[in-house]
Amino acid sequence: MPYLNVVEVESALAVAANAPNNAIAQLITLPNNTWENRTCHALKIAHGAGAGRVGVYFLGGLHSREWGSCDILIALIEAVENAYLNNKGITLGSKSFTAAQVQSIVDTLDLFIFPQSNPDGRNWSMTQEAMWRKNRRPAPAGDTNTACVGVDLNRNFDMLWNYPKYFDPKAPIQNSTDPCDHDVYIGPAAFSEPETKNVKWLLDQNPNIHFFVDLHSYGELLMYTWGDAVDQTTTPGMNFLNPAYDGKRGMKGSGAYKEYLPSLDKSLVVSLATRMKAAVKAVRGTSYKVQQDFALYPTAGTSDDYASSRAFANSALAKVYGFTIEWGKEFQPPYAEMQNIMQEISAALLDFCLGVIAAPPPAAATAAKEAVAAHD
Ligand SMILES: [Zn+2]
Repeated sequence: MPYLNVVEVESALAVAANAPNNAIAQLITLPNNTWENRTCHALKIAHGAGAGRVGVYFLGGLHSREWGSCDILIALIEAVENAYLNNKGITLGSKSFTAAQVQSIVDTLDLFIFPQSNPDGRNWSMTQEAMWRKNRRPAPAGDTNTACVGVDLNRNFDMLWNYPKYFDPKAPIQNSTDPCDHDVYIGPAAFSEPETKNVKWLLDQNPNIHFFVDLHSYGELLMYTWGDAVDQTTTPGMNFLNPAYDGKRGMKGSGAYKEYLPSLDKSLVVSLATRMKAAVKAVRGTSYKVQQDFALYPTAGTSDDYASSRAFANSALAKVYGFTIEWGKEFQPPYAEMQNIMQEISAALLDFCLGVIAAPPPAAATAAKEAVAAHD
């Protein structure tokens, strides 16, 4: 069985929203068609309604060559629907979730799952150039080099997007302002791309979303914010909004700049990431590593930092805790191995949901208040 192609991911989403699955699932049409005029869909899974339901947002497919992210999220959707509607549990290798646990996830949370956020890029990677990473924004006029097509969508979000202004010129950041960079061109403006606008739109439309997990490969890592500098919990004024630190971010080691993450936020994200690590390990013994995004390399304009930054930049917006998973050890593992990884990451995401349900809401509320106070 091969990876799902672009059409198959969309048809799986349609089936996931049809009877009998429509008892708990609803298809969401994203408003911005891609450069090649594809329409994207997400799925909301929830049973029940009412104020106080917490939204959890799982995203996949921003990077074209990381094929398995779409397959993971479709498999997760199918497992949850099958288990819930048949009053069964879910077994993933040696890790099991009871029927009651699956029910508590669907009955308590609003799951927003957007498996294929960059269908143009996925199609190009699957049919033309396997290692393609960006979307398919047309090249600037006159640029005929094939690398001049596309934007790195996970550098196009509005969080320190204009990195030459914000980062130390010596910082080892792997972003580029060159449209012909094969991999990491940040785009002509933050949110210039229909695909990143769609990711943002789901956050804007659903202010009850407080948790965001973006799937990538590879590296066997479970990561939490921030990506621009080492986290610190003691100096609220040293943060990505403060222009006094422009030109100083992104340095490892003795770098003076560190990014503020309130201590309650930090303990919550570390505990959820650690929970995911245990769930992955329970499937077949694989050890993923929990770490801050920045430990990989300095980044700017990424999805999880953007999601996390929203409430800091605008206190009217909902507090979101952002994560990035780097699954596996290669971009396109043989499908038999990918199926094992699908089980591992499905286990991680289901256990993440149970952790969200178990997290004491007062902690999240206090953390939000603390953050607002720090930036008002
Ligand atoms: Zn990626």
